[in-house]
Amino acid sequence: MKKQQMYINGEWINSIGNEKLETKNPATGEVLAEVPRGKKEDVDAAVQSARRTFESEEWQSFPPIERGRILHKVAVALREDAEEIALLETLDTGKPLTQARKDVEASALYFEYYAGMADKIFGETIPVQPGILDYTLREPVGVTAHIVPWNYPLQIISRSTAAAIATGNTVVAKPAEDTPLTAIKLAEIFDATHLPKGVFNLVTGYGFEAGAAISEHPDVDHITFTGSVQTGSAVMMGAAKNVKPVTLELGGKSPNIVFEDCDQEEAVEWVVRSIIQNAGQTCSAGSRLLVQQSIKEEFLKKVVVKMEEIQIGKGIDDLDLGPILNEKQFSRILEFMNVARNEGAKFLTGGERQETAGLENGYFFKPTVIDGLAPDSYVSQEEIFAPVVAAFAFETEQQAIELANGTEYGLVAGIWTKDGARAHRVASKIRAGQIFINNYGAGGGVQMPFGGFKKSGFGREKGLEALRNYTALKNVALKY
Ligand code: NAD
Repeated sequence: MKKQQMYINGEWINSIGNEKLETKNPATGEVLAEVPRGKKEDVDAAVQSARRTFESEEWQSFPPIERGRILHKVAVALREDAEEIALLETLDTGKPLTQARKDVEASALYFEYYAGMADKIFGETIPVQPGILDYTLREPVGVTAHIVPWNYPLQIISRSTAAAIATGNTVVAKPAEDTPLTAIKLAEIFDATHLPKGVFNLVTGYGFEAGAAISEHPDVDHITFTGSVQTGSAVMMGAAKNVKPVTLELGGKSPNIVFEDCDQEEAVEWVVRSIIQNAGQTCSAGSRLLVQQSIKEEFLKKVVVKMEEIQIGKGIDDLDLGPILNEKQFSRILEFMNVARNEGAKFLTGGERQETAGLENGYFFKPTVIDGLAPDSYVSQEEIFAPVVAAFAFETEQQAIELANGTEYGLVAGIWTKDGARAHRVASKIRAGQIFINNYGAGGGVQMPFGGFKKSGFGREKGLEALRNYTALKNVALKY
């Protein structure tokens, strides 16, 4: 990284108050960098820059295909520097290098995918009556804000900013205070393109300061937020004051539903992977395991064996499981484990800190399998954000569906069965935004619409659906 500053109106700057915040390596506790602690005034400057540019003749007449070419250049630059960027992401988030490399590739894919869409945003002609020509235009919404979480910093800033710029908007993005580094790197990449100044603006800072200021800013036209339900709700309230639309992606308590006729080896592999990836700090983590009673004991034994084989270490050692993000998240997990014990949980494996020589200052948590919780208990219902999976039994398909739908979330579900009719029947009954049958994640799925039912949020990101977030529909009727 060359810069450790904010990027506003094409300039690298410190915050107006010149205050800083530290970002740390979760594997060692060491300070990695200091970045500006942006506040309301800095957000104002970024929004003004984005507004000025949005309304400028230069941006309004900028050819869509040229926007696409720039986004394509960003994809190329991400790939050129992939190793360096992956290392940065690993140091900042703690995730194993292989996972960080996949994140960089997914980010490049987002830019590539939306680059191709920049000149393919169509309206429609609508038959009304003779003598009237009616058509719709899909116009950019204006200044778009992007509040990004710490679990997939580069991927999440890429998925929404690529779609927003492709559709002709300008951007104010705020990375999470714990993981701002790859967002700054992305700003460096934009800086090296011929994107007009003020299209991409980056403000670093705390959620309660910079994040809140963005949410309540009257001159922001749309907010995309990924994070907790509580903060998502606060962002929505801020936006409501100015009647601004939001797209919210708020996590989940996603089930893997394992029927007795499934390919068990394949299912075990993915059940473990879906909760181990990024140390379980993934909105779509498979954190509930619903298994048909007839195979439950056998299946759980296999899951436990696999969980105990997981290798734990620093992200740069590139093993299976890295540390939890920070002290706050780690204490939160320990608290969940205490509650689980009080709720009568049986720990089949894990449930505690991983002690390893040389890693005493890191936040390492053992892969954990819990059984015996009531489906309506606190730990069965709440997102833990840890490598912790809770198991439940069902007898019938109907019970499986009820259990799967039995939380306030609805982001993702996995169905494991060789019975095709059953797979589709169950998929049709589950209230979640993405259903995977005999797989989980489909390799990332930049092309697949993604988002939640219920408290998992609303609006869709990824795929062509995301373009709706960033365009406003206008109807034009001409009498001839
Ligand atoms: P958070 O929701 O508070 O933070 C996410 C982003 O929102 C960060 O950029 C943060 O700076 C910003 N933010 C915080 N307060 C804000 C406010 N008042 N207004 C505007 N923006 C604000 O998440 P957290 O506290 O870091 O994590 C807590 C829990 O949230 C996790 O344990 C997990 O359950 C959930 N989470 C979910 C996701 C996801 O991908 N859905 C990501 C991160 C966290």
